[in-house]
Amino acid sequence: MKWRSTITAGLICAAVVGVALWVIHARLVGHWLEVHTGTVNEPGPYYGFWSGFGSDLTEFAIIGTIATGVYQLVKKYNCHYPGCWRVGNHPAAGGQFSLCYRHHPDYEGKKPTHDLIERLHREHLERQAAMLSRLHEVHRHSTDEPAAADGGSGPGAPTAQAAGSGNTQADPGTLDGTAIPRDT
Ligand SMILES: [Zn+2]
Repeated sequence: MKWRSTITAGLICAAVVGVALWVIHARLVGHWLEVHTGTVNEPGPYYGFWSGFGSDLTEFAIIGTIATGVYQLVKKYNCHYPGCWRVGNHPAAGGQFSLCYRHHPDYEGKKPTHDLIERLHREHLERQAAMLSRLHEVHRHSTDEPAAADGGSGPGAPTAQAAGSGNTQADPGTLDGTAIPRDT
């Protein structure tokens, strides 16, 4: 993957150089032709423009398009570390950055070794398992909660219920201490 994008970028660069050479060459050849075919003294105010600089406008457009493509490609694939020109295809911070192996914090500046890959993979799986079990826990809590909430006042309710009618402190009540009857 990494090599393929590097080669693609290289080919595009070569194409840009080729087009640039062709344009420069074409102008020289064009000028040579103009001089030697005697068309260089053709009258008219726009002739010079259209046969000279103007005739290259399409080539400039082509170069512009290719350059933009190269720029986008480079932006897409190069490492986000400032000033780094390596291909960065290792996501960091949940995909916010794509970094090369040298700048990815997990790899400590080295190419990932077999051990490191194995360790990171194991850690990833453990993290996922931990997250899943936590999710299950939260889910269980949220399904338990409505049953407890039916009793009345949330987390404090079970102890108040256990204490019986003698203790009405935890319950929302009227000023004279009598509890508001709960609707079950
Ligand atoms: Zn980098």
